[in-house]
Amino acid sequence: MKPRIGNKLLIVSAPSGAGKSTIINHLLSLGLPLSFSVSATSRKPRGAEKDGNEYYFISAGEFRRRIAAGEFVEWEEVYTDHYYGTLNSEIKRVHDAGRAVLFDVDVRGGISLKKIFGTDALSLFIMPPSVDELARRLHGRGTDSPEKIRMRVEKAESELNLASSFDRIIINDDLEEAFRETVKAVTDFLKE
Ligand code: ADP
Ligand code: 5GP
Repeated sequence: MKPRIGNKLLIVSAPSGAGKSTIINHLLSLGLPLSFSVSATSRKPRGAEKDGNEYYFISAGEFRRRIAAGEFVEWEEVYTDHYYGTLNSEIKRVHDAGRAVLFDVDVRGGISLKKIFGTDALSLFIMPPSVDELARRLHGRGTDSPEKIRMRVEKAESELNLASSFDRIIINDDLEEAFRETVKAVTDFLKE
């Protein structure tokens, strides 16, 4: 029987700096029947980010109004005053197009989505080889101040304890190896 792509969901979570964006961008470049779920956030756009592309950028007040209106499947205050949430309308948009939904969400959001969607969802946890390497990658990326890096590393230490709540843990030490493992897990899941 032909698999029904249009009800599947792929959740990718990781502590900041583990390589989640790198792996998601690789997955999106392969032409698989997957589309990115554009989240809403109350943080400001960074660099070349465009509204509706990486995120829907809205104010914290608008975010709270939409929470009250029941527009989010899940939402988290990932960093103080910075809300992020998955919109019901995004899931519908992607599924209506007959494609699987790809979520880039924080670790707690990933666990919530898996609980909601059960076996329709595959949840992947991208694991750094160590906390020291995570800190090195964040410094190397050069997008965050030393204070922000310290906060992210501190948060990572508790997030690593939640890895076992995910369907699969992908260790991102050698990047090519992590790409291969992720692509295999995703293509198998889409074929199921
Ligand atoms: P995240 O989205 O999880 O915060 P990124 O994908 O931005 O992480 O990766 C953080 C930094 O680490 C980037 O500079 C990226 O190029 C680098 N990186 C990703 N994977 C690896 C790897 N396997 N080995 C070394 N550096 C990596
Ligand atoms: P950034 O500000 O670096 O783009 O994202 C910060 C964190 O928020 C990342 O871990 C990202 O995965 C997470 N995130 C992005 N969108 C959502 C969302 O809709 N829900 C949740 N829970 N986290 C999100």
